[in-house]
Amino acid sequence: MLIKPGRSSGNLIDRRGGRGGRGGRVGLGLGGLVVVLIAAFFGLPVDQFLGGGGAATGPVETTPSAPQDEASQVVDAVLASTEDVWGALYRQTGDVYPEPNLVLYEGATPTGCGYGQAATGPFYCPSDQTVYLDLSFFRQLAALGARGDFPLAYVIAHEVGHHVQNVEGLLGRSRSNAMSVQTELQADCLAGVWAHYAQDEGGAVTLDDADIEEGISAAAAVGDDRLQERAGGVVRPESFTHGSSRQRAEAFLAGYQGGDYAVCFR
Ligand SMILES: [Zn+2]
Repeated sequence: MLIKPGRSSGNLIDRRGGRGGRGGRVGLGLGGLVVVLIAAFFGLPVDQFLGGGGAATGPVETTPSAPQDEASQVVDAVLASTEDVWGALYRQTGDVYPEPNLVLYEGATPTGCGYGQAATGPFYCPSDQTVYLDLSFFRQLAALGARGDFPLAYVIAHEVGHHVQNVEGLLGRSRSNAMSVQTELQADCLAGVWAHYAQDEGGAVTLDDADIEEGISAAAAVGDDRLQERAGGVVRPESFTHGSSRQRAEAFLAGYQGGDYAVCFR
């Protein structure tokens, strides 16, 4: 996959300390850190642990900034591309696409859905309409032999797919496993719609068939994102199953081939 640097998204928030960003730091207070470590040690779901309040103290970067390093430039370019595609699709129906934010973080970070941590994988939080990515995820992808940037782009487009579902009022209607697989496959389909249009008219990305197959299998191997939502003021982590790699590839292709998002909502 080829990603051409285009406009900056303007919705990228970099909370990584030290590298990149503007020195933005995760405001993880000592108490929060201890809870995260304990939870990590015992394998407990951190979000359940911290549910309801969040233990954040200290400042947390909330202001979008221009990408400062290569990794965040790629993320930024893909995010901008999703905004272009969904913005155009929403305009066609006379609507305005409410752009999500994307937070880059390392280790752990407070979110509108409780604490996010690297082990959670990439996820979308409906209550603050934000995608959360820990870049160690992409090192995992590379370690799995994922080539190129497509797995990364696919993951972002999938999480943005959850955002579209949220905007359309399609999230959180059912907690049954069958429905959660449907939700995940629909997000894959919406990622396919993005890929379809992202290639048009000298768009930001160029994909070939190998990109798609490798990307989906790599992302499926590690992309166990947890869709989280706030219900009744209590954070309940949801460990959604995503469907098999084959199902995911088929869902992606359904959106990708025709670019018709209505196909995803059937
Ligand atoms: Zn998902």
